[in-house]
Amino acid sequence: MPSNSVRQKILVDIAADPNSSAVPFAGKTSDLKSLFGNHTFNTEVQKERLPEKVFESLQNTIQNSKQLDPGIAETVAKAMCAWALEHGATHFTHWFQPMTGSTAEKHDCFVIPAGPGAAIAKFSGSELVRGEPDASSFPSGGLRATFEARGYTAWDPSSPAFIFRHKNGATLVIPTLFVSWTGEALDMRTPLLRSMAALEQQSLRVLKLFGNKKAKHVYPTVGAEQEYFLIDRRLAALRPDLQVTGRTLFGAKPPKGQELEDNYFGSIPERVIGFMTELEYEAILLGIPVRTRHNEVAPAQFEVAPLFEPANLAVDHQMLLMQLLRNIAVRHGFYCLLHEKPFAGINGSGKHTNWSMMTDEGENLLDPGDTPHENAQFLFFTSAVLRAVHQYGDLLRMSVSGANNDHRLGANEAPPAIMSVFLGGALDEVFHKLAEGTAAAAKKQDPIEIGVSILPPLKRHSEDRNRTSPFAFTGNKFEFRAVGSSQNVARSTTVLNTIVAESLDYMAGLLEEALKSKKDFNAAVHDIVCKTIKEHQAVLFNGNCYSDEWKKEAKKRGLPNLITTAECLPLINSKKTVDLMTKYKVFSKIEADSRHEIYAENYIKTIRIEAESAIEIAETMILPAVLKYKTVLTSAATTKLQKELIHGLDGLIDTLIEQLAKLKKLAVSVPEESVQETAEYYCGKVIPAMTALRKTADELETAADDALWPMPTYTELLFAR
Ligand code: ADP
Ligand code: MG
Repeated sequence: MPSNSVRQKILVDIAADPNSSAVPFAGKTSDLKSLFGNHTFNTEVQKERLPEKVFESLQNTIQNSKQLDPGIAETVAKAMCAWALEHGATHFTHWFQPMTGSTAEKHDCFVIPAGPGAAIAKFSGSELVRGEPDASSFPSGGLRATFEARGYTAWDPSSPAFIFRHKNGATLVIPTLFVSWTGEALDMRTPLLRSMAALEQQSLRVLKLFGNKKAKHVYPTVGAEQEYFLIDRRLAALRPDLQVTGRTLFGAKPPKGQELEDNYFGSIPERVIGFMTELEYEAILLGIPVRTRHNEVAPAQFEVAPLFEPANLAVDHQMLLMQLLRNIAVRHGFYCLLHEKPFAGINGSGKHTNWSMMTDEGENLLDPGDTPHENAQFLFFTSAVLRAVHQYGDLLRMSVSGANNDHRLGANEAPPAIMSVFLGGALDEVFHKLAEGTAAAAKKQDPIEIGVSILPPLKRHSEDRNRTSPFAFTGNKFEFRAVGSSQNVARSTTVLNTIVAESLDYMAGLLEEALKSKKDFNAAVHDIVCKTIKEHQAVLFNGNCYSDEWKKEAKKRGLPNLITTAECLPLINSKKTVDLMTKYKVFSKIEADSRHEIYAENYIKTIRIEAESAIEIAETMILPAVLKYKTVLTSAATTKLQKELIHGLDGLIDTLIEQLAKLKKLAVSVPEESVQETAEYYCGKVIPAMTALRKTADELETAADDALWPMPTYTELLFAR
């Protein structure tokens, strides 16, 4: 069957019965409450199945980040194995987050032969604690060559082991860290934990100064809202660009996109809600606190958002959620697109990362509170965040860079690449008054006296929101909106934790000094907060961050505007970054260098694959189709107007051929002196050539016979379900 008739058949099938390709769902939604975390080796299960001493020792490791007592590993492994077998697991795996951006696993069977014709199920303490995947196939950015560093995975008890089900069974999954034998981080999770430790140390120091002697722990909290697209799987299968790159490299803008604004929060299509229900069911079993679901702005775009958790758990759950999205989509005949920009001209997907800090007593340090004392502490922490984003906005931007996210940031979609902070009306006013505080203290009485006056009530309503800001205060947390939908949030959270730790360190130092010289506490806090805001208020912006005026204004204010990943790459191991990261023991210089290499290569490879895919599609699908159309047209044309049509078509086809030749030439003459140079070449030369080729191909798509077009169109991909 020619591809266009396949296309038509699929469309007719979808129209007749959208659910025809779905696998029936066997879960019982009435049990949701009792099912929460049922497939995790959580505290309850541990308590039930472990001897008291072992349980307490394990809990001490989990709660207080204490070194694991190797003596308990054997007992824990045994209990975990029995529990997993009861849940139908046949295999176990160490699960980690290498620098590929996704997760990795290698399964081993529990069952091993024991004498002739017999077998036993076995899982030892050492198998629980340490694994040795073949590290040589994971990106290490030169670390391996330098150190011959093989990697190993190390059990991280702070994230509970879980059962991952598949059609024919299940696997016991053990969250681990992935490090080299010489101690370098080879994953995303190890630096995250280090940054959490740095933030905890500095926050506790500040809390002590504020008189809080009870808090033992402070951890960053993260709630990441995941946006995604769902496309019919049969149609997606006909798009090699989607299959290979996760985004469409061609495709004319459909007559209807999102301009009617009828999708956001619209009623969820039947087939999609069936998918969401199963997704949430599986997530709940794994203890992922999914809470919100809705239609997003673009057609075929949706969102799932969990409740926040401590950052390390939130990151693991976020990675799992992406896995579930992809797997469960298949069961419903969908193809889930997590790419930041699957469709040109249509909104892309982000992963708004809500971030705050919380004590082990449940106090949210970014909650303004009700008393002057709470207000003062809140202002201290909040101005530390402000300072961090101002001082290290470039690093924050770098932390969300990548070939995919470049299509959102800095391009014609928001949030932009300039890092600014939105505080919302009431708090913005307070901050501006405080900034005047030190400058004009003599002029008028202080409008706000820290430790004495009460903050005006801060709104937490959505009207008070600025959706164009990349970093917005939303009542009791910040929302970092520049994170990309396919990214591991560990990377940006690591940077955020570290830069705030640095700010708190600096400000705590000032406060300690002031107190040493017998300054009144409230007066000292007041001066430090005012000084901090004054010095860093340039990063505050309440206006429209998408506007050109803001670009000009931001430039005047000296805020960096890093539009492409190629520009961000050098920041990964710049002196400023390395000084910061080594000071707080988040990255060593060697690790920073290796990461530069890994991210640069990933960027280069991503664009190379896109370019090769674009060449193949243009050459083997689009060009033949338009030539065929021309033949048809030529044999049919009789009048002058009809012949002019051919003339116009000829011009476009020639342009396509020229642009194709240019892209092919660029793709084979890549400079390879340094990764930075190569990255800049792909950014400056290859991407524009791809964009030009696409423009012509899209014009041809709207001119040619639809029956001859070799791929499903945007309208079909976005609206058939
Ligand atoms: P909003 O009205 O701003 O959308 P929600 O309460 O609906 O606020 O939360 C949106 C997201 O922010 C959710 O994922 C939620 O869990 C997360 N969130 C709420 N409070 C915090 C916090 N203290 N720290 C981190 N994330 C939070
Ligand atoms: Mg959203």
